[in-house]
Amino acid sequence: RAKSDRRGTYRFFEPEMDAQLQARRLLEADLRKALANKEFTLAYQPEINIRRHEISGFEALLRWKHPERGMVSPAEFIPVAEDIGLISALGEWVIEQACQEAAQWPDGIKVAVNLSPVQFRNRTLVETVDRALTQSGLCPSRLELEITESVLLQDNEMTLATLHQLRRLGVCIAMDDFGTGYSSLSYLRSFPFDKIKIDQSFIRELTSRADCLAIVQSITRLGSSLGMITTAEGVETEEQYRHLLAAGCTEAQGYYFGYPLPAQDLVFSLYPEKQPKAAEA
Ligand code: C2E
Ligand code: MG
Ligand code: MG
Ligand code: MG
Repeated sequence: RAKSDRRGTYRFFEPEMDAQLQARRLLEADLRKALANKEFTLAYQPEINIRRHEISGFEALLRWKHPERGMVSPAEFIPVAEDIGLISALGEWVIEQACQEAAQWPDGIKVAVNLSPVQFRNRTLVETVDRALTQSGLCPSRLELEITESVLLQDNEMTLATLHQLRRLGVCIAMDDFGTGYSSLSYLRSFPFDKIKIDQSFIRELTSRADCLAIVQSITRLGSSLGMITTAEGVETEEQYRHLLAAGCTEAQGYYFGYPLPAQDLVFSLYPEKQPKAAEA
């Protein structure tokens, strides 16, 4: 029976598989043209020092405006760019663009750039960062590079050597999406990060689940005893904000404080209404 059905089965699945493959090839082809066609921009989302109540910097988030599809999410196109060997060129553009735009901002306001693990396999990363700083005139201490645990998962001495070289340029290094990987704690021991960004999955249920609150409190305590800044990601409500403040978190980022915006729309002071209400004081 299986034999006689084979042809029919194959034909049943074929159109769907074909459509998926074709969509993927189209995306790849469009991505290859997108850089030259200037379809990428950066959106910047504020990171707030919730103790001092001021903006400490902005995270650069890559945006692709596809000519027909409109905005495509980085969650969709970055893995593809990594697969087809485009992430290094794209990542280089992001670093240069972010440094150039941030050099126009008020003094002391930082810019954070996300790095793909694949960029660490490319020997030119340190050189690229160094050149972007020199050409833009941005003070190195105002640039922060965000890596995820997966960067440290891929081996070896070269990754660590690269991180130390970057640090020697004077830039800051942040661990992004902390708590979502495998053995987070050992990664904290392998490199002295300047900042830990607590993944938004912990913040989402911060006010409804005691275990999430406990985890956030522990990460915050751990961070401060290691001399690292802790930043909560994905803060959407005032209630979450108040919990984070009480938990001793240094910084917060999320739609509650500001959406990612194009460089020309940035505001460098915090909206007064984002003060925590005096209720619990
Ligand atoms: P990420 O670095 O963890 O960035 C935070 C993501 O959370 C961003 O999504 C941001 O728009 C979103 N976000 C911020 N506040 C909130 C909130 O309050 N609620 C919710 N639900 N989400 C919030 P986005 O811009 O879609 O980026 C997704 C991921 O794509 C980033 O996660 C980062 O891993 C990657 N990415 C973005 N830009 C770049 C880039 O230039 N290079 C590389 N290698 N990766 C990038
Ligand atoms: Mg990030
Ligand atoms: Mg993150
Ligand atoms: Mg994330």
